[in-house]
Amino acid sequence: MQLKSIQDADLKGKKVLARFDFNVPLTKTEPRTITDASRIDMALPTIRLMLEKGASKIILMSHLGRPDGQVNPKYSLEPVATYLAEQLGIDVVLTTGPVDVGVKEFLQLPETKIVLLENLRFSPLEEKNDQEFAEKLSTYGDVYVNDAFGAAHRKHASVFGVNKFFSGRAYAGLLLEKEIKALGHLMDKPAKPFVAVLGGAKVADKIKTIERLLVLVDKILIGGAMAYPFLKAKGLAVGKSLCGDEDVALAKQLLAQDKGGKIQLPVDHIVAGNPDSEPSFSATINNDKMGLDIGPATIDKYALHLKGAKTIFWNGPMGLFENPKFATGTMEMANYIAHSGAFTVVGGGDSVAAAQQSGFADQFSHVSTGGGASLEYIEKGELPGVNALRGL
Ligand code: AMP
Repeated sequence: MQLKSIQDADLKGKKVLARFDFNVPLTKTEPRTITDASRIDMALPTIRLMLEKGASKIILMSHLGRPDGQVNPKYSLEPVATYLAEQLGIDVVLTTGPVDVGVKEFLQLPETKIVLLENLRFSPLEEKNDQEFAEKLSTYGDVYVNDAFGAAHRKHASVFGVNKFFSGRAYAGLLLEKEIKALGHLMDKPAKPFVAVLGGAKVADKIKTIERLLVLVDKILIGGAMAYPFLKAKGLAVGKSLCGDEDVALAKQLLAQDKGGKIQLPVDHIVAGNPDSEPSFSATINNDKMGLDIGPATIDKYALHLKGAKTIFWNGPMGLFENPKFATGTMEMANYIAHSGAFTVVGGGDSVAAAQQSGFADQFSHVSTGGGASLEYIEKGELPGVNALRGL
């Protein structure tokens, strides 16, 4: 079934229960403040649209961090409520718990327009997809909107179980719609050549996605710590580089599957004795060295593939990019991808941070907000939260 868009929803006079991903990073010490509000900023167009469409009440839901079903002030959504109120210029009332008795009382107050339910994961029932918990949440709204793409791969009450109480009254928010469209574009007849750039720390985390990409793409350019298990699987020395035995076994398996020679590996490296020592570049990795970034010849080799590409998907940094000494490979890939003229999608987490650090973030066709969700969508072509929203 087609997703129903919030753009087509009649919200006039209705109470709208809306799930967002306000899982923003906070400072570690009190007072806890938001260090990067991008996820909230990306939700604002949907909230503004709900206000424009004349919703009588807007009940916002989100999780934040991993409080593991316990009330924990460290993970309170209070900084989010404050930020939303500032941005929207309207009061945002924060409840004391996700489903406490006070919620209905707040909804009765004529002056209250926006209510933010306290962290859904303060209740253990959210992650258990408890039906009574989902039903309780559903009583707060006449219609349901899901704009939490970053949580759509979870079978949790607020993104999954709740849908069945809104049959025909469940809508995709603007951000979720945009994500599905851009990622769908990668899977549904992408313009060729289609090149994937994959980095990050572990093969095991991304093995299913790599298997799927081997079918979809023409080339996979591997970088980051993920490259070393592949090099070791091919019999090359990797010195002290991050390289677990499980990952080497998986890399061997993937190389055997790769009949068309799609997997491309680094041909040189930025190496150092440890991340604090002085780097040098080298085609091989000596026993006393670790690989911490791709080298200049690899950048040139990968740039050639990227220049000819019509579709590019990028996930994971090419090195220990948080340290400027080992950020060149990642920044150069960001540069080539952003200026390739291809349809370009950056998927989640560290790659988004790297894209932002490169200064080219606004030159990618799409920067996905959901790390795990975007990889799972590519792997399976569907997500539980999106299927449930479609009424499947
Ligand atoms: P992931 O979450 O799997 O995308 O991994 C991202 C993390 O991998 C980042 O924190 C990078 O700094 C780290 N990383 C990438 N390449 C390397 C490397 N060669 N050595 C150590 N860490 C790396």
